Amino acid sequence: MLNIVLFGPPGAGKGTQSERLIEKFGLVHLSTGDMFRMHISENTELGQKVKQIISDGLLVDDSITFAMLEFEMSKHPESKGFIFDGFPRTVSQAESLDKYLADKGLIISKVLQLDVNEDVIKERIALRQKVSGRADDGADKLIKRIDEYFSKTVHVLPYYASQNKLEKISGVGEIDVISANLFDAISAI
Ligand code: ADP
Repeated sequence: MLNIVLFGPPGAGKGTQSERLIEKFGLVHLSTGDMFRMHISENTELGQKVKQIISDGLLVDDSITFAMLEFEMSKHPESKGFIFDGFPRTVSQAESLDKYLADKGLIISKVLQLDVNEDVIKERIALRQKVSGRADDGADKLIKRIDEYFSKTVHVLPYYASQNKLEKISGVGEIDVISANLFDAISAI
């Protein structure tokens, strides 16, 4: 089973690249951001609980997030593997995922870090907000999300580096070139 974590700050291109990777390798895409947005748009109990937190650009509680992810993973017992997009965002989430996989005799195969600097991210998200109108893409919320990334999420990188699973790929430039570099990194596993 191929279990890939696609890692990077908001606006790094994880969603775009995930779509290409699932097509190429036949993996199941698990985006916790998409899952939360689905719950919010369907006004589920979970959606009501997390709506304000997400709109404020803060991270949702680890146990709520992991329970939701676990439920989605359990729907695909026959899958060839997963692409984790936007998860894990904290070391505690990374540990929960490792434990869950280990119980099934599985591991994370590789963590691909899409490397994009902060100025590029801000430009991309400003552009995206015009198209998507995402409530958490506004300027002040974006600053919060970037803060959350640098205060909590970056610590996930040394966690995977110490397991020798981390590979950095530039997330700047032609989308096709970035995809090709990701394909190569996965094919080398
Ligand atoms: P981005 O485009 O900023 O990478 P996502 O679509 O991945 O954003 O996530 C949107 C929001 O959903 C996050 O800002 C956060 O509030 C919440 N969220 C998504 N994934 C997680 C997670 N793994 N842990 C906690 N909160 C999360």
